[in-house]
Amino acid sequence: METQAWQVLDRAHYLHPFTDHAGLRQTGSRVATRGEGVYVWDTDGKRIIDGLSGLGCVNIGYGRKELVNAAAEQMLELSFCQSFFKTTHRAAVTLAEKLASMLPEGLNHVFFQSSGSEANETAMRTIRRYWDLAGQPQRRVVIARELAYHGSTHMAASLSGIPPMYTAGGDIPLPGIVHIKTPYQYRHGPEMNADEFGIVAAGWLEEKILEVGADKVAAFFAEPAQSAGGAICPPMTYWPEIQRICKKYDVLLVADEVVCGFGRTGQWFGADHYGITPDLMQLGKGITSGYLPLSACAMSDRVADMLIEKGGEWAHGFTYSGHPACCAVALENIRILEEERIVETAAAELVPYFRSKLETFVDHPLIGDVRSVGLMGGLEIVQNKKTRESFPYEAKIGEACSTEALKRGLAFRANGDTMSLMPPLVITRPEIDTMFGIAREALDATAVKYDVM
Ligand code: PMP
Repeated sequence: METQAWQVLDRAHYLHPFTDHAGLRQTGSRVATRGEGVYVWDTDGKRIIDGLSGLGCVNIGYGRKELVNAAAEQMLELSFCQSFFKTTHRAAVTLAEKLASMLPEGLNHVFFQSSGSEANETAMRTIRRYWDLAGQPQRRVVIARELAYHGSTHMAASLSGIPPMYTAGGDIPLPGIVHIKTPYQYRHGPEMNADEFGIVAAGWLEEKILEVGADKVAAFFAEPAQSAGGAICPPMTYWPEIQRICKKYDVLLVADEVVCGFGRTGQWFGADHYGITPDLMQLGKGITSGYLPLSACAMSDRVADMLIEKGGEWAHGFTYSGHPACCAVALENIRILEEERIVETAAAELVPYFRSKLETFVDHPLIGDVRSVGLMGGLEIVQNKKTRESFPYEAKIGEACSTEALKRGLAFRANGDTMSLMPPLVITRPEIDTMFGIAREALDATAVKYDVM
């Protein structure tokens, strides 16, 4: 079928996530057909370098037959298995044990679901249950951060701190969730050195704990580095200080590693990169490299033991918790990442190169700030580099830049006005060159369009 014919059907029946459908009707969707390595193709035969890894998930790249075979073999052997009624199966048990062996100390227990949002729901229900069982039911308040993204269910959207989500109705945020400023140095502390700023930014957590009342705070909930918020990467002093503050007030530390997990930061987990041991850690996306939907909520011994010893039956779970094929694919994905040393190779050979390429954009007339950790990078577009003033929201300059990039064959995401790049971890240096070459052309074309020279 022709591209246009697919677009007509798409428009008539398919409601897309995070999409302005009225706008989409004017342009039509790009119709993707296949993927290989770091590339995807569309129905016009155009090859696009995927600077987004799908949505920050396709860490090992497209088209790995081993993952397909792992799913097929598992489906033929046992296509579905519930875990509710005293039943388990080998793929889920093996994956849970594998994750426990890889995660920071103490995170020895894993609960499975299908998406990052659901993993965060599990984390929230666990936190509240934990404090009830611990005899401190008044600990209800969860502190999250501005510009956070934790998902699209009611609770996950409430934890998130990206402004449009609050105005979308549905009584969001739900009660018991408050937000603090994020370690966004370009906006909140440009005059400080990075180490000093990290401590100051962590101090905002302590201020909020004291404001709420330490005995009422259940948890601090955050991404090690914020992806959808615009590649906000904290200074190295931030997280250890956060951990210290959480310990001091006995506040649970919850790390949403849905994006950071499985190599994005250059280490296996963001917690490894920033040197923290959370009480709960949510994983998704890269756990299967996006080949099948799976997420995990890992819990420390302290938390899990409370549920197990005092909790009785826990009324929480999903039909697809620990789906056999998803677990089998995750195991195969982790095997490939380990055997091919993909995370370690990316850290040693790609991360410094990626960073150096990203830094060349400091001089671009549209770019006010350049940020990165591992293979997650952000280029923040501003109207005035001196005053750091942003373009008005209605100008939609980030979106315009994305469109310019796509025309030239690069998926280049706009998170607000921050242009983000998070390619598959298997990208090569020449592919990195191509990616940044197109990114520059797209930014140049955008500068012309918006009359910034
Ligand atoms: N947490 C983070 C940090 C995310 O970036 C996302 C998705 N981008 C989610 C949670 C939600 O995951 P999902 O879309 O699978 O529900």
